[in-house]
Amino acid sequence: MNKYDYIIIGSGASGAAVAEKISSDYEVLILEKGENLPLNEAHKGYVRASSCKDFEEHGKIDILSGMGVGGTTLLAIANGVRTQEKELRNLGIDIEKELDEVERDFGVLPIPKNMLGERTNLFIEKSKELGYEPKIMPKMIDFNKCKKCGKCNMGCQFQAKKTSLYYIEKAISKGAKLKPNFEVLKINKKDEYFTVQGIEKGNLINFSAKNVILSAGALDTPKVLNNSGIITPKKLFVDIFVTIGGRCNHSFKDEINMAAYIPFNDFLISPYYSERIIKMLGERKIESKRENIIGIMIKIKDDSCGYVGKDFTEKYCTGKDVQKISNGVSIASRILKESGVDTIVSTEAIGAHPGGTAPLGITVDNQFKTKMGFYVCDASILPESPGAPPILTLMALGKRLGENILDSS
Ligand SMILES: Cc1cc2nc3c(=O)[nH]c(=O)nc-3n(C[C@H](O)[C@H](O)[C@H](O)COP(=O)(O)OP(=O)(O)OC[C@H]3O[C@@H](n4cnc5c(N)ncnc54)[C@H](O)[C@@H]3O)c2cc1C
Repeated sequence: MNKYDYIIIGSGASGAAVAEKISSDYEVLILEKGENLPLNEAHKGYVRASSCKDFEEHGKIDILSGMGVGGTTLLAIANGVRTQEKELRNLGIDIEKELDEVERDFGVLPIPKNMLGERTNLFIEKSKELGYEPKIMPKMIDFNKCKKCGKCNMGCQFQAKKTSLYYIEKAISKGAKLKPNFEVLKINKKDEYFTVQGIEKGNLINFSAKNVILSAGALDTPKVLNNSGIITPKKLFVDIFVTIGGRCNHSFKDEINMAAYIPFNDFLISPYYSERIIKMLGERKIESKRENIIGIMIKIKDDSCGYVGKDFTEKYCTGKDVQKISNGVSIASRILKESGVDTIVSTEAIGAHPGGTAPLGITVDNQFKTKMGFYVCDASILPESPGAPPILTLMALGKRLGENILDSS
């Protein structure tokens, strides 16, 4: 059996960044559950955690993630903000240099003024009138290619959005091997080697390596850990969000979503277009269409109390979560009213940044190592909910782990 230096499980934000760092120096195999989807078909990789069979009993919030080479970054709407720097520093992990590097790799920049849409400009104008200080969102987008279609969350038809595929392609060019459609089930240790067991086309297959980096994302990493004998805590957060909105007397063109934002202590608000608003207005007999609705997303730092079980995901809003959402809703409602919206409706609660299921200081140490000796590096190791887009931080953590490995050789 071929023995690798490192097996990396998952090719998303963190896994791809580690792969890129270490593939020149080590023999690396990347095992990925999803397929190799072109960026314009990334929406085929959506996974809804709460659609599990016990949803009625256990799941209270839809949790979104992506399956495919490049992970959830293929579905991301390209927001590139720094988050959790202080919390990680408190745990002895300084990622400032790595964040600089990721920003350079992806050319992360605030959206140029001439690319801002009318909804965003209205949000900026009305929130300033109310005394808030909106910021322009930094994005991982090639603005020369972007057509402002507002559909980053479906992939990207114009190859303008930058994703983890950039690191995966670099890792492969340095010699890494990628195996898509391979679902890892568990990790065993025998003598000085790890065996990674998984399924490919219905067959059980084992691969061996001197070490393993588990980067399957916060909803799958705990399953692999539990199967491998490492019990994970009830610490799942998801950065719960709702979008509120309504009809307005304008005719808007499509535009980049979340192009501006206002950060608060434990939540942020940002203009966001959601089809659900049209449906929910319809239920109230208010006719609306894509062109005349506006929406604002309220995204909170939620409590870390959810759990990923074998067959279900358990996550609900705590009283504190509800308080934060309602604080955000009251500010966003004022901005919508000032923008000319009469009837405001709200979507259901959703989470798109699951994390915290194998946290630093509990499941892994500050070198990201488990007690079995392999590494975990993805959103599951984050110590708490960022309440903000985490990709830059997750890529920086991947780079940090890669550098630790190179330094120790
Ligand atoms: C719609 C949407 C929009 C978002 N927008 C933004 C944004 O604009 N900015 C931002 O910062 N964040 C955004 N996020 C969040 C961000 O994409 C995720 O937080 C981030 O990608 C998580 O990185 P990760 O490395 O933990 O896991 P992922 O990127 O999810 O990667 C995990 C990988 O592991 C694979 N995998 C899972 N199980 C196994 C297994 N058993 N065996 C092998 N492989 C496995 C998965 O298929 C996946 O490819 C968004 C999320 C969603 C859903």
